[in-house]
Amino acid sequence: MEIVVFTGAGISAESGIKTFRDSGGLWEEHSIYDVATPEAWEKDPQLVLRFYNDRRKQMESVIPNTAHKELVELERSHNVSIITQNVDDLHERAGSSNVLHLHGELKMARSTGDESLLYDYTGKSIEFGENCEKGYQLRPHVVWFGEMVPNLVLAENIASKADVFIVVGSSLQVYPAAGLIHATPPHCRYFYIDPKAEPINGIANLNIIKEKASTGVPKLASELAKL
Ligand code: NAD
Repeated sequence: MEIVVFTGAGISAESGIKTFRDSGGLWEEHSIYDVATPEAWEKDPQLVLRFYNDRRKQMESVIPNTAHKELVELERSHNVSIITQNVDDLHERAGSSNVLHLHGELKMARSTGDESLLYDYTGKSIEFGENCEKGYQLRPHVVWFGEMVPNLVLAENIASKADVFIVVGSSLQVYPAAGLIHATPPHCRYFYIDPKAEPINGIANLNIIKEKASTGVPKLASELAKL
């Protein structure tokens, strides 16, 4: 069975990384418009770099939780693909084999002049004035609000093969990512694990599991493992 798991900030909340919906639209005390848009980068690149350098450090200080680990276990019985909106690397560190990042990866730096130039910045900070080999300033390899989502087509292709589609810890407010569920085939079964999960327009047979990821994911995974 092909299981596609679409994760959001909520799956990493119990590892100690804050979501931004839960803090009134702020992300670690910053308005997202001040740190996660192309306009913010234009206006104050040093603030943006500092913000993401802090996020990278924080990510390196936390560890995957039960929910990340249960999704790895599920690979014993099914083909599991994870499509994550998260920029953290907790799915990879838990051991998941197939992880697609829709909104980029905090651990990577990217050239502002050539987007094919990526650098692993694990354990490092991106500084203002630090350039790629072609001489362009480095920026975080994240998709900011208002930017294209290059991995969307790949993600739609994965979703189109899903027998089961599970949403974990996402407010489903950020588009186009939130629309991915509509790329699934007609026979697909749907589950939505989130303490604030609500019905989704156009998805009739949605199973809502109003729980935290650390309890909801293990319960559902043990049911699915029996199939
Ligand atoms: P969101 O902040 O909009 O929504 C978070 C959701 O998680 C909410 O629906 C909330 O009810 C739920 N939640 C909170 N605690 C939970 C728990 N313990 N278990 C399960 N669910 C829980 O997040 P989003 O929908 O992912 O969209 C935010 C965007 O911000 C993403 O695209 C992402 O790029 C970025 N972001 C990423 C991280 C990260 O990488 N960890 C953290 C914050 C924001």
